[in-house]
Amino acid sequence: MNFKEVNENYTVSEAIREAQRCLHCKVPSCKKGCPISNDIPDWISELSKGNFGNAMQIINNRSNLPAVCGRVCAHERQCEGNCVLNKKGSHINIGKLERFVADFDSDSGMTHEAIPEKTRGRVAVIGSGPAGLTVAGDLARKGFSVDIFEMETEAGGVLMFGIPEYRLPKEVVRNEIRKIENLGVAFHLNSTVGEGITIDDLFDQGFDAIFMGTGTGVPKRLNIPGNQNPAVRQAIRFLRRVSLYENGLMDRKEVIVGDGDVVFVIGCGNTAIDAARTAIRMGSKEVNVVYHRTINEMKALRAEYDDAVAEGVKFLWNTSITNIEALDDTAIKTVTLTTDGEDRVVPADHVIMAVGSAPASRIVSTTEGIEVDGNGYVITRDTPYGMTTRKGVFAGGDVTNRPATVVHAMHDAKLVAEGIEKYVDAVKLLDIIDRQGGQA
Ligand code: SF4
Repeated sequence: MNFKEVNENYTVSEAIREAQRCLHCKVPSCKKGCPISNDIPDWISELSKGNFGNAMQIINNRSNLPAVCGRVCAHERQCEGNCVLNKKGSHINIGKLERFVADFDSDSGMTHEAIPEKTRGRVAVIGSGPAGLTVAGDLARKGFSVDIFEMETEAGGVLMFGIPEYRLPKEVVRNEIRKIENLGVAFHLNSTVGEGITIDDLFDQGFDAIFMGTGTGVPKRLNIPGNQNPAVRQAIRFLRRVSLYENGLMDRKEVIVGDGDVVFVIGCGNTAIDAARTAIRMGSKEVNVVYHRTINEMKALRAEYDDAVAEGVKFLWNTSITNIEALDDTAIKTVTLTTDGEDRVVPADHVIMAVGSAPASRIVSTTEGIEVDGNGYVITRDTPYGMTTRKGVFAGGDVTNRPATVVHAMHDAKLVAEGIEKYVDAVKLLDIIDRQGGQA
């Protein structure tokens, strides 16, 4: 098994035929199900007539990342889950159509957006995951000059280093980033705010507002005996290593997991399933997802679960790992599985934890006035939306603990972009009034 994308794209005629099934409902329940209120019936209508450029422009009004959303959104719980045609047993495949339009546009270089002059102010965006890219794209379209500061060697955040290639090819993410660059957004890679450069430095450089879209980079650990051993891996770090390996930036041996190994993954969200399916692709002979609840309570998408089962991943429901015995600093010897109070000790080579993550404290610890809650999430307010306790510093996405998926991070980020817009406009207006008052 390899890392090639698992889902096929539509051909032109397939896409048009699928779009023609849409009823263009007057009160579209699909749109209600979309966290960013994508104008689904309108662009599907254009697509059904073969007007791909118009379809793309309508999508661009609400989304900066359609090729991503078309692939990784929870369509079954959102737009597609709400489509009226579910009553007849076959919803419109909205995600696949969105992906078709976005890919067609990237491949053909069809749409060229008019970029407004950057006259409304300067905004620094820290982090280039879904939240950062959304804020940057929205503000660039509204006439702000935007600079993104990204600590990695390549932009994209979780899209580039957290979601595996078979679900979201890196080239798709690069295409989306290129489109945001074409809006005039400047990317500064290998730039870690909180180390070397601080929020105060950015204000000194003349930025009017700063957005923190830094996500949650510190993985959580379950409190079980043996979990502190370095051989216990973290899913987000494992996925990042595989991504670097896939891009030729890391040796195979540094990925460690794979080639005939028995692997246990703790947790049952999408990251756990990504880690399990990736471990299979790295050559593991047996991969088990261990979850202390039932299948109906798992956070992962059903479609992801189905694909994992088809690829050979096993699921142990109502089961916990209650002890981990390590062989050395790189491998595990055994794990104790506990189901309904009964223990069994089984051989294992690797344990991968996928039980959530929390924000890093790099920025808040080097900046005065940004308050966090008891779990380290940045506290923000509703007016202007997304502003932290430090004036001019905004935050959104996972770092504030509101969103949970790519599209929810985008939804939150869109609201924060509006908050930044209002804040910068107000500050500039007050400046003008002050200056006029001074001259009077
Ligand atoms: Fe088309 Fe379904 Fe949306 Fe109606 S609910 S507009 S049929 S996609």
